[in-house]
Amino acid sequence: MDDTEPIPVGGQTGADRARRSGTVLVRPVPMRKLAKVPFVELADGRVQGVVSSGSDIARVYVSSVAAAGHGLSCSTNNNRPCGALHGPYPCKHISLMLAEATRQYGLPRVARYLRVEVEPDGALESALDPHHEPTPAATVFSRFLRHLSYLELPEVTEPVPELHWFGGTRAVD
Ligand SMILES: [Zn+2]
Repeated sequence: MDDTEPIPVGGQTGADRARRSGTVLVRPVPMRKLAKVPFVELADGRVQGVVSSGSDIARVYVSSVAAAGHGLSCSTNNNRPCGALHGPYPCKHISLMLAEATRQYGLPRVARYLRVEVEPDGALESALDPHHEPTPAATVFSRFLRHLSYLELPEVTEPVPELHWFGGTRAVD
């Protein structure tokens, strides 16, 4: 799939295309059940995640902060730039995404990943030296869809090969 190609949310197009090409099976996304920040990860040299829109249930934002240089990026899953991100000031999507990253991974780990020093009770955002640096949303968004498809896996006793790298799921002979 081309990086610039829009990915429909909850639509059939992407899933149908994936099914035809026999690659990744992506089920329609149950948007109504999404948390405010349903997905966040420290990966690709960025703290990045998916933030649901406050106003439109069918829209999500892909927000990220680069570890090197603190480039800020926020756009919809269809690569439309976030209207609230201007210059070096994080929009609310980035703030929410960073808050969720801190909740899931802990402030010390997120701060270390972003190469900043933050007091235990300090504010991560004020430690950043950010600038606006748009990055394509498609990679993060497709990982989010994969993440959702794992959440939907029925309970299985067999090891899931793709999850081996999480550890603890290795097959026992
Ligand atoms: Zn935004």
